[in-house]
Amino acid sequence: MNVPQMFGENVFNDAVQKETLPKEVYKALRATIESGKQLDVSIAGTVAAAMKDWAVSKGATHYTHWFQPLTGLTAEKHDSFIEPEGDKVIMRLTGKSLIVGEPDASSFPSGGSRATFMARGYTAWDPTSPAFVKEGTLYIPTVFVSYTGETLDKKSPLLRSMNAIDKQAKRILSLFGITCKKVSTTVGPEQEYFLISEEMYEKRKDLRLCGRTLIGAPVSRGQELEDHYFGVLKPKIAEFMADLDKELWSYGIPSKTKHNEVAPAQHEMAPVFSTTNTAVDMNMLTMEIMRKVAKKHGLICLLHEKPFEGINGSGKHNNWSMSTDAGFNLLDPGASPEHNTLFKLILAAVVKAVDDYQGILRASVASAGNDHRLGANEAPPAIISIYLGDQLGALVDSIVKGEDYVPRKALEGSIGVPESPIFPKDATDRNRTSPFAFTGNKFEFRMLGSQANVSDPNIVLNTIVADAFEQFADELDGAKDIEAAANAITERELKAHYRIIFNLDGYGPEWEPEAMRRGLLNNKTTADAVPVCFEDKNIQVFVKQGVYTKAEAVARANIQLENYTKIINIEALTLLEMVKQDIIPAVSDYVADLCTNVAAKQAVNDSIPCNTERDIIMKLSEGNDKLSSLVVKLEDELGAIVMDEVIPASQAMAHGVIPIMEEMREIVDGMEKITSSEYWPYPTYFDLLYSVK
Ligand code: ADP
Ligand code: MG
Repeated sequence: MNVPQMFGENVFNDAVQKETLPKEVYKALRATIESGKQLDVSIAGTVAAAMKDWAVSKGATHYTHWFQPLTGLTAEKHDSFIEPEGDKVIMRLTGKSLIVGEPDASSFPSGGSRATFMARGYTAWDPTSPAFVKEGTLYIPTVFVSYTGETLDKKSPLLRSMNAIDKQAKRILSLFGITCKKVSTTVGPEQEYFLISEEMYEKRKDLRLCGRTLIGAPVSRGQELEDHYFGVLKPKIAEFMADLDKELWSYGIPSKTKHNEVAPAQHEMAPVFSTTNTAVDMNMLTMEIMRKVAKKHGLICLLHEKPFEGINGSGKHNNWSMSTDAGFNLLDPGASPEHNTLFKLILAAVVKAVDDYQGILRASVASAGNDHRLGANEAPPAIISIYLGDQLGALVDSIVKGEDYVPRKALEGSIGVPESPIFPKDATDRNRTSPFAFTGNKFEFRMLGSQANVSDPNIVLNTIVADAFEQFADELDGAKDIEAAANAITERELKAHYRIIFNLDGYGPEWEPEAMRRGLLNNKTTADAVPVCFEDKNIQVFVKQGVYTKAEAVARANIQLENYTKIINIEALTLLEMVKQDIIPAVSDYVADLCTNVAAKQAVNDSIPCNTERDIIMKLSEGNDKLSSLVVKLEDELGAIVMDEVIPASQAMAHGVIPIMEEMREIVDGMEKITSSEYWPYPTYFDLLYSVK
């Protein structure tokens, strides 16, 4: 395989554009992509024709506008290129079809922002993310808006938030004498996932309907030996990963790192970072391709945040930074950050933004699946805090406390034998327990769920940092001594927001009470985290930065709660079905057989001991009875919920339904351990986690 040659072969990328477009058209298109210049609509026809010719040469017969509605997934509606001419057809894509499409919007969630009878929605071409050919179809990345201009997707607000940063960051940079065409945010999302056998998966209703196991006793060997992390890949997994890379590369997705993760059957893929909107598109495509390639190998890729109880769940690390079109990274501290006024100011802006808007940042990663990670017994906790590391931590401490700063040098490492090389060590060790960690020249936001669309947290991050930049720039405009004025702002803001910085163990038991003392938010469930989005301050920041109108912000929070409520409802109904149709009957059959055995033994001789059978019969019968009464309790609880009232409904799910489901699970898992495996109706955790060779 010639990787450089096949990389991006399915993408209408810069190189192909250059080759297939007339010079002027190419230049106009690049100006839009690179410096955000308004698209010149008159070039659309030429671009469309070139795109179509290229796609047809790749075997495409159809095209689709590809968009990201508020379901969190991607959506597509395929049209063929054919256009009748006499009794023949020609293949055609017009400029208009490239620029705009009109899928019926009424069946997508709108959070009450749009009545169903006003169903018109438009998809509009996003030229900044390249089109690609997949399975005979040309995919055109688009944004999705309503007839009245409300955004109906995750991409348009993302683009708006990137615009907001661009505008405000350029103001800050120009105060320091740096001019550039564009400041873009960059993201490298690390993706965790599980791979299990398709055969086992097919037999589990919960995995098929909910993406996670609702029941299942822990297996005797979990992750306690810590031998899976970075371990040797099993042959079947290695084949999958090789195939995955090949596919990803063909779509221009720079898949870079792959390895086993902490839990058995858990793995990770990390791409090289790119501009945020492209990174989002690529991550959506990556998840889809992971599922598809897995199936080809007889595997199922689970992207749920918590497919299995008792072992680690999956997340997505959002590595985030900002850089100019000339490649200057705004979060690069340079060799001596203590003298880098601009860097310190930018750092202060991020610290301020994250502290002021910790509520919406937390809410942006809230989902039914992610609730099993954040704030549950697995971290990062639901509390937002920032880890700066030894070097910047000491610098910020010195600023806040007015003390001298002693610079830390990057260290040299050696293992103490002359044959091994001396290697440069980072100035700072890692802290894996922080939800928002500075890692050299970027921040790593670690709270994202594995199946999330990474737009959501990036929309918030971009918006709140743009807002802090705007405040700083307003204040600095016209300052006589920019250095002094900037340092004063940095000092003031770091002092004001010092509480959000936490450099110690975020998983430790001391942190939660300490965070409470500091007044930090700790919203453990989606039902409790999302309502902050309705607070005026949290809406106004979006309005001010031109990212959401008030109606859009409210609609999105409603959709998030509605989605949460629906997911828990599906999970509860699935659990009820499994318990009533499979678990209770299976256990009852086993008990009946044990009773027959006891009777048979007694018939032979009533002094034959039957204590084992009697004990199991007793425990399982009690278990089944308890389960039956919890079934009634859960059905009553669900029956009382009015799904349309999103806030009370989500509260009832979080604090009424889920605890009953957990209670049921405990009983089922206890019964699984003492029921003969011949009778148990589902593959066990052992089957699920250890059957791939
Ligand atoms: P770490 O080892 O700290 O996790 P890596 O260098 O392995 O860091 O990078 C992890 C992820 O961060 C990768 O996806 C990488 O491309 C991404 N990344 C690196 N630099 C940046 C940046 N400036 N902006 C966004 N993401 C970045
Ligand atoms: Mg990382």
